[in-house]
Amino acid sequence: MAVSIDHDRCNGCGTCVQDCMLGALAVTDGIAMVDEDLCVECGVCTVDSCPADAISLPA
Ligand code: SF4
Ligand code: SF4
Repeated sequence: MAVSIDHDRCNGCGTCVQDCMLGALAVTDGIAMVDEDLCVECGVCTVDSCPADAISLPA
């Protein structure tokens, strides 16, 4: 499992990439992508990383 990124909301700003200490996030072609093998669902990136409110934990 991993966080979900709403690709319609993501503007590729990269803030979440800097905030993930595990390196699970990367911006590719202007959209944030999550490496599901690295994400531990700590939730750090979902709290206030994203100005577009594009990241969420699985329900
Ligand atoms: S939930 Fe945690 S481990 Fe997963 S992408 Fe966000 S900051 Fe990284
Ligand atoms: S912080 Fe939000 S808008 Fe910025 S790259 Fe990450 S998911 Fe996209």
